[in-house]
Amino acid sequence: MRRAGPHFLQIPGPSRVPDRILRAMDFPTMDHRGPAFSKLGQRVLGGMRSIFKTAGPVVIYPSSGTGAWEAALVNTMSPGDAVVMVETGHFAGMWQKLAVRLGLDAQIISTDWRRGVDADAVEDRLRSDHDNTIKAICVVHNETSTGATSRIGEVREAMDAAGHPALLLVDTISGLACADFRHDEWGVDVAVAGSQKGLMLPPGLSFNAISDKALAASKSAALPRSYWAWEDMMAVNDTGYFPYTPATNLLYGLAEAIDMLHEEGLDNVFVRHERHGKATRKAVAAWDLETQCVEERDFSPVLTGVRLPDGHDADRFRGIVLDHFDMSLGNGLSKIAGRVFRIGHLGDFNDLMLVATLAGVEMGLDIAGVPHQAGGVAQAMNYLQHEARGDRRSEAA
Ligand SMILES: *Cc1c(COP(=O)(O)O)cnc(C)c1O
Repeated sequence: MRRAGPHFLQIPGPSRVPDRILRAMDFPTMDHRGPAFSKLGQRVLGGMRSIFKTAGPVVIYPSSGTGAWEAALVNTMSPGDAVVMVETGHFAGMWQKLAVRLGLDAQIISTDWRRGVDADAVEDRLRSDHDNTIKAICVVHNETSTGATSRIGEVREAMDAAGHPALLLVDTISGLACADFRHDEWGVDVAVAGSQKGLMLPPGLSFNAISDKALAASKSAALPRSYWAWEDMMAVNDTGYFPYTPATNLLYGLAEAIDMLHEEGLDNVFVRHERHGKATRKAVAAWDLETQCVEERDFSPVLTGVRLPDGHDADRFRGIVLDHFDMSLGNGLSKIAGRVFRIGHLGDFNDLMLVATLAGVEMGLDIAGVPHQAGGVAQAMNYLQHEARGDRRSEAA
């Protein structure tokens, strides 16, 4: 049956693809070895450096974000190398599984899945590694399974304070272009990203941003690699070409996405995401429900994980919201499945879309019989209108 009006895709990625990007991809596929392609290739490779805030190389793969995780490891590590993952949630845990399959000694710093990375714990682990056996610290910038954003600059400071040479590998698949990310300033060695979250594209592209130190490590790293090899990519990227057939039409879309992010201004994009995170938390507090993340300074601007009271199934609730209001909310993953639902507020998203999203949640809570207080949407609106008035005042000043 036809459902009128737009579907609300409020999972924390893939995010909604704006019409401008859909139009930008709606072109005949071009000759990827021809002269016109080189301009597009250079435009997106250079543009992504500005999004990662790096002067170093960025490579683009036609793959989901997980592929770029694999690329980060196989290009820098050797069989049996020790790598340490801070398990902030489901995605950090997936990364560890991948490392084990690649034959790495993947160690875990575990957490309660309700906060970001504790930089002190990283520092302690590195200080006790007297022989420098740990080759990489792997963290997730924005943990999409819980709604916690880690302070990556502090992780780098902790590593420097420990005087340890491990590489810093960061999954910013859902962080990039939503929350501030500074590859060079924060001393990130390999950043991993994907197209379908803050970059507002369909799934299908992934990225590595690479530091000099990571590039140097790749010269001696001995894990087998072929398709993911940075050197093959970089050998032809300088001229805007790719060694294999690139995802041409997604690259048209990427060029448009980069333009859109700069037209709005990256800092404004981050402020908008922060505002939507805060408004959402105002609603959750008014509903008298709990957020999955409990550490205030780690609250994510990208998504909010919400816990349902004991005895109430989050997946049943999500089903009700989908049936009645044509809105998809994110599910709880692995050990918090059924306990948590996630509200995505990322990408091409504005105040009114957020109010509608929260209204769908509030009505759904009522229909599902989840104990809660009414008035969450009103609290979010209060905050949003307060912020809007503040903007008008600062424009007038
Ligand atoms: C979405 C996501 C992934 C997985 O990316 P795929 O594109 O599904 O491979 C990994 N890490 C984080 C933090 C994510 O948000």
